[in-house]
Amino acid sequence: MEEILLKNCKLILDAMRLRKNQDILIREGTIEEINEGLSTSGISIDCKNLLVIPCFFNGHTHSPMSLLRGIAEDLPLHKWLEEKVWPLEKKLSAEQMYIGAKLSGMEMLKSGFSGCADMYFNMDYVAKAFIELNFRGVLCEGIFDFFDKSETDKKAKIALNMHKRLNSLNSKLIKSSFGPHATYTCSRELLEIIAEYSLEYNSLVQIHVAETIEEQNQCIERYGIREVELLDEVGLCNERCVYAHGNWFNEKEYELMRKRNAAVVQNTISNLKLASGATADLKRLISEGIRCCLGTDGPASNNSLDPFEMMKFSSLLQKHIHKDPSVLSSKDIFRLATYEAYKIFYPELKGGLIEKSYVADLALYDLNEIRMKPLILDDGQHIINHLVYSCSGMKAKYVIVNGEISVFDYKLAKENEDEIIKKFEKAFEDLIINF
Ligand SMILES: [Zn+2]
Repeated sequence: MEEILLKNCKLILDAMRLRKNQDILIREGTIEEINEGLSTSGISIDCKNLLVIPCFFNGHTHSPMSLLRGIAEDLPLHKWLEEKVWPLEKKLSAEQMYIGAKLSGMEMLKSGFSGCADMYFNMDYVAKAFIELNFRGVLCEGIFDFFDKSETDKKAKIALNMHKRLNSLNSKLIKSSFGPHATYTCSRELLEIIAEYSLEYNSLVQIHVAETIEEQNQCIERYGIREVELLDEVGLCNERCVYAHGNWFNEKEYELMRKRNAAVVQNTISNLKLASGATADLKRLISEGIRCCLGTDGPASNNSLDPFEMMKFSSLLQKHIHKDPSVLSSKDIFRLATYEAYKIFYPELKGGLIEKSYVADLALYDLNEIRMKPLILDDGQHIINHLVYSCSGMKAKYVIVNGEISVFDYKLAKENEDEIIKKFEKAFEDLIINF
């Protein structure tokens, strides 16, 4: 791995502090030194008009669903899933999922995400796409048995086999986790088996929880208790569990999550778009000390994988539901999209800040961007305000993931973008012809 020197970075900003005109030396995947006048025999990049921030991490998505982007809109969640998404997904081949994941990975990388937490199928193909891009993935094979007892063991086995396969890749970019889809698609027995695996392999579990009020009602009807209570009973409410969405929690559920140290990923744009309940209360989660971060959800329900939109919508929604513009500062939101996300998904790494010995996941943006103006160079809060409220759609000039360059001068460093788009369009054509 070649050493990288980010020379004379005009601004270095993370959720803790702002520094000016410093060099950053990167060696073997980590930040070796931040100082003036550093030198290298490796790669040197002139950063004199650039802003360096820690990469964003996308806490929840379904990357191959880029193939379904824009083909089914303006429908409620369950109708959207049952009539459009699930029938089309049945037709998707592993190769198509690979190219779908690659397009999404490319979109995320170029915006400044270093990686994502991703639930889908054939995740070894997704892993291949991400490794080729030099992009991180906390991956899980999405499983469900739809309460059919003859399917339970089969699905648990699929999850375990994929877990082992992903681990055997031995890639620093790929982290394996378990992904029971939700309480309304997985039987209690299946959830219990996954809880045992999670404990045995000390592995994260990603699951959709309290996305809609209907699924809470179904859970109460089926088990007489709410979703987080059920998850607690089966062994899936603990520090290894990450709940995607979390729109409909009651007092008892907040208390359980706090006590057991479970984490929540807010997916504001998807929640708004599918009208599944724009009620996820980040302010409450933070004030209760419940770990939380932000996600985009899949490209079929967002539809862009943009960290700036993700932050802006999440902020605006909280102000709206609390009827208070002072709720959650832009700094709070920026922290959730960077530092807090790394703490949830990579507790074993030092990530999400720009400090010596932290992982070198960095995104660099041109300070001449129109949406960065006006620019008060000594005011970190001012720059974070721009990032959260005015930079939607901004692309990174350079992205470094795990100490290697993934985006160089706005282009993928390791892959040919035109080739990816050509293959993606062919895969989409084939999918639609077969539908
Ligand atoms: Zn999801």
